Amino acid sequence: METDCLFCKIVNGEVPSLKIYEDEFTFAFLDIHPINRGHTLVVPKEHHQNIYTVPQSVFQHVMDTVRILAPKIKQAVAADGINIGINNETAAGQLVFHLHAHIIPRFNDDGHAHWHGNPYQTGEIETIKDIITQEFK
Ligand code: 5GP
Ligand code: ZN
Repeated sequence: METDCLFCKIVNGEVPSLKIYEDEFTFAFLDIHPINRGHTLVVPKEHHQNIYTVPQSVFQHVMDTVRILAPKIKQAVAADGINIGINNETAAGQLVFHLHAHIIPRFNDDGHAHWHGNPYQTGEIETIKDIITQEFK
């Protein structure tokens, strides 16, 4: 429990939320500013800032809950698909620094664009592969 963390306060009931699921390790509630109806956040009850600091077992519990909830939310709001996302650090759009997975229902006509990709320059993809795999050595 981090005293100044919004999602810790939601988990312990200090800040109200619309809870849709809870188990021993995780808590899921509706995002107050949804991308689409049914947009849900899944958080570990333990405070961890992001993907770099979360222990494996805690992360697994979060993903287990995401897997349970995604098809139920899809069914409940009659979505056509689901995005799962985790933002890590400000550059990636993280606003609340308590790890959370977004479950975002998607609709064929919802107007949200897919990621905009860009092509690599010639030879660049091989270089990127090399510099990433170096990190494992
Ligand atoms: P992030 O950008 O950190 O990945 O996502 C934070 C999410 O938390 C945002 O989608 C935002 O709408 C949601 N959020 C922020 N404050 C509250 C709150 O007080 N209650 C709920 N239910 N969601 C919140
Ligand atoms: Zn927290």
